[in-house]
Amino acid sequence: MYEVYALKYSERDTTKCQFFYREASHEKLTLHYFVWLILGGPQPVLVDTGFLDDEATSRGMRNYVTPASMVERAGVKAADVPISLITHLHYDHWAGHSLFPNAEFWIQQEEAAFWTGKYGGTPAFRGSANVNALAGLVTLNYANRVRFLDGDREVFPGLRVHRVGGHTAGLQLVSVETKRGTVVLTSDASHFYHNVETRQPVQIITNLPEMLEAFETIHALAGKEKLIVAGHDPLVADRFQQVEPGIIKIA
Ligand SMILES: [Zn+2]
Repeated sequence: MYEVYALKYSERDTTKCQFFYREASHEKLTLHYFVWLILGGPQPVLVDTGFLDDEATSRGMRNYVTPASMVERAGVKAADVPISLITHLHYDHWAGHSLFPNAEFWIQQEEAAFWTGKYGGTPAFRGSANVNALAGLVTLNYANRVRFLDGDREVFPGLRVHRVGGHTAGLQLVSVETKRGTVVLTSDASHFYHNVETRQPVQIITNLPEMLEAFETIHALAGKEKLIVAGHDPLVADRFQQVEPGIIKIA
């Protein structure tokens, strides 16, 4: 049976009105930054790659440690990660890919097309990109280290990706069967529990109806156990068991 860990590697403050869709409140909002590790299957599977210390500095992050160091603390050497499921290509999920030199990266074709196409570089979207990391996608592809997906896909029995879009063109989330029930790693299909529980979107979107539909997909996949792991919510550490600082055991 699979075990699932959320590994926190940084944090940052913003305000609710800068983050939630058509939100009036100026209250502070703290984002936590995670990668997720799935153990107990044929091979360890990492979800996303985090970012490097250049982003931590340029974007004013707090308490940054490398995502690789968190993965190693959870028991897997960075060079021994064979598969990384990339939920989407925003900087905080993709810019750390060089930390995992032997991983194959599983990415929705639609997501890759978006960031290498017409709109990626526009003012509305470019702030979420790390250009060097996106250029690296080409290099990795020619080294046969990218697997492009067209929709939902089983990775191993009981471990699947689901293409939902909404926040980005080809956003995918991850479901994992565990002995406690189905864990849903929402990534940025739901940054906070507030999103999926009240159906309030965020401001960074490519398709608003798809984002709303993704909330329904999360609830449907999670079932009654509700083992939902929001993508950037400090409450993940309260709703599940923090076994060491920054290491949260989901199931
Ligand atoms: Zn994110």
